[in-house]
Amino acid sequence: MGHYDYSKVMRALYKQAPDRIRMRAKGYFSEDRIKSLNITGEGVLKARVQGTAPEPYYVEIDMKERTRKCSCPAHHNYRDIPCKHQVLVVLPFIGTDAGRR
Ligand SMILES: [Zn+2]
Repeated sequence: MGHYDYSKVMRALYKQAPDRIRMRAKGYFSEDRIKSLNITGEGVLKARVQGTAPEPYYVEIDMKERTRKCSCPAHHNYRDIPCKHQVLVVLPFIGTDAGRR
């Protein structure tokens, strides 16, 4: 994970998401839908998530630049809020009860 505090960025992303998106992300978490997940030395989280389409969605969160992408169709509509795939991929690091504190 390096010396940079990624958990802070991840918690900020989680807090940006509305409850309904958090709930759906937690559902995905329990369904084991993360197909791959890694963080580069530059602090970019890259993941593949099995969504509703046959091909997994590609999620990228740059934790230093604070930019994020997802190949799902919803991401383009949301713009300022994270999609459920983006919330999902931070859950292994911050835990599913992160919003309750
Ligand atoms: Zn997405």
